[in-house]
Amino acid sequence: MEYDVVVAGVGVAGAFTLMHLPKDIRVAGIDRRKELGYPVECGEIVPSKKEMEVLLPDLDDHSIFEIPERFTVNRTRRFVFVLPSGREIEVDFEMLVLNRDEMIQSIAGDSGHELVLGARFDYDNGVVVDGKRLSSRVVVASDGANSVIRRRMGIPGFEISPAKQYVMEGFEGDEDAIYMYVGRRISAGGYAWIIPKGNGIANVGVGFRHEFAEKGDNIHNALDRFVREWPHSSEMLKRAKIRSKIGAVVPVDKPLGKTVFGNVIFVGDSASMVISHVGAGIPTSMVAGKIAAGVIADHLRGNCALERYEVLWRKAMLKAMENGYVIKKMWDEMAVRDERVIRYFKLVTKKDMAAILRAGLPLKVKMARAFMPVLNLIF
Ligand SMILES: Cc1cc2nc3c(=O)[nH]c(=O)nc-3n(C[C@H](O)[C@H](O)[C@H](O)COP(=O)(O)OP(=O)(O)OC[C@H]3O[C@@H](n4cnc5c(N)ncnc54)[C@H](O)[C@@H]3O)c2cc1C
Repeated sequence: MEYDVVVAGVGVAGAFTLMHLPKDIRVAGIDRRKELGYPVECGEIVPSKKEMEVLLPDLDDHSIFEIPERFTVNRTRRFVFVLPSGREIEVDFEMLVLNRDEMIQSIAGDSGHELVLGARFDYDNGVVVDGKRLSSRVVVASDGANSVIRRRMGIPGFEISPAKQYVMEGFEGDEDAIYMYVGRRISAGGYAWIIPKGNGIANVGVGFRHEFAEKGDNIHNALDRFVREWPHSSEMLKRAKIRSKIGAVVPVDKPLGKTVFGNVIFVGDSASMVISHVGAGIPTSMVAGKIAAGVIADHLRGNCALERYEVLWRKAMLKAMENGYVIKKMWDEMAVRDERVIRYFKLVTKKDMAAILRAGLPLKVKMARAFMPVLNLIF
């Protein structure tokens, strides 16, 4: 079988690519999972459309973020950011909590394109399934952070962070809020989260980078401490039971400098398209998938080179990604000691935090960045 496009990996990026590819071309979406998006390796939050207009002001059309209600299980109104000292910074911020697996399955299914599920692919100058190379004019590498296509093509990778999450039942906090916690004992070099899904169900997880942790510590102990011992979080989880567990990785780096290589186009986590300081990759994967599909359609009609994708996704999203990365790098310098985190955050007001969560760089942050070598000596 000859295809116009093979979409290799059908997570968020692959599903949104499939959704926006024209119906009259030959497309196959391939994934090793039999049930797309499941198990859910994600906190499942996406900013509301109103918030996305602020986060990605250069995106021409934000209608992709009018996410149908059938894919959402909760709508939260604020973030509660908790420091190791217990100080809380509350920020109004509207988020949707998704049923991410249902969204992926439905969007990919409704695209009308062929889906080949339960099939693990490899890459050797083309996507290879069961030892057979599939012929296609374009390959979409939407195979996630550990992209086999990227590795086989010899394209250098990027920094990733391990993360572990429980789905818990019996959460007893405010279901209107998303809780983010920092502290070396629970989330070395990252943050821990409680994301209420409604009816007492919550995604509870930690990011954990070993180089920031105490010697001998690990992500499993960190998540259990967060659930059972950490003040503030354990109180809300004391009667909660674990329903399921996952471990996965999230890119915490800049996006790849080049995302089109011949007829292969990288979309989503495979290209580290994330807002790295908050580990957000769903909205960026949605946008990248839509842009990739539009460029591929034009390319197949002979109207443009695939390289147009490089220009369009950067115009829409690069600024937020770069700002996120600046904040993430500052965080790396702070996160070595909880006392240092607490001292730096004495400078941070609620208004600053609101800007930081929206991938903004307030003047104070820019100044702190410039003076960090000196401030680190004092803090
Ligand atoms: C614990 C955790 C929590 C997160 N929480 C959030 C959050 O709340 N909000 C947010 O915005 N982002 C979050 N992220 C990041 C977000 O999940 C990703 O950025 C996003 O899902 C990327 O989508 P993707 O389609 O590029 O990759 P993926 O969702 O990883 O999809 C890749 C697909 O490719 C398939 N695949 C890979 N290799 C092969 C192969 N060889 N053969 C066949 N199939 C293959 C996989 O099965 C998978 O379906 C989180 C990440 C983690 C790990």
